[in-house]
Amino acid sequence: MTNIWFASHNAHKIQELQTLIHPLGWNIKGIEEAGIIDEIEETGLTLQENALIKAKFAYDRLNEPCISDDSGLEVSALSGRPGVHSARFAGLPPDSEKNIKLLLSTMKGQENRKAQFRTVICMIISNSAYYFEGSIQGDITSEARGVGGFGYDPIFMPEGHQQTFAEMTSEQKNSMSHRSRAVGRWLNFLKGKGSLLNP
Ligand code: IMP
Repeated sequence: MTNIWFASHNAHKIQELQTLIHPLGWNIKGIEEAGIIDEIEETGLTLQENALIKAKFAYDRLNEPCISDDSGLEVSALSGRPGVHSARFAGLPPDSEKNIKLLLSTMKGQENRKAQFRTVICMIISNSAYYFEGSIQGDITSEARGVGGFGYDPIFMPEGHQQTFAEMTSEQKNSMSHRSRAVGRWLNFLKGKGSLLNP
């Protein structure tokens, strides 16, 4: 089984990605398994820049296929914020509960609740970087609901659904999430480029 290193320390995300890709014959490993424990500074101004920074950080050390993802919640009424700052919206260290609280209070009384989650995946292989994007539209709820998932899941209700991501099973969320859509594009690319990676 071919290993692809994932430049993330988020065990939840590594597990989510592993579930999506394992049936296809690839194995995702978090870079901590290679002894890389450094926090990677996300200094980019866009999701794409941050994804490249993280993948390159891992690739420079491992010189094997590496991927990273950078995601954000983009709220229409806030001109796309928190976006690239989603993790640290309420300050550092990142705290999902504080982020949710701040977003709900910022959105109090706001009628336009439209938002999207967006993910950009960057894969570096043989010194070339490739990008894959996925997004899902939805609404910001007026209160947190559900205990599943992570991050802003309790306040994001995807279009056409009555449950927040946090009220769904991980299978339900994976069937429509921004990340799984980006992963789908990435997998299609890999399938068409079989010689790059041989599972
Ligand atoms: P990251 O850059 O991909 O780690 O994500 C940045 C921020 O967006 C984190 O604070 C996460 O909480 C949030 N985020 C990313 N993906 C999701 C998701 O699937 N659900 C909820 N929040 C997410």
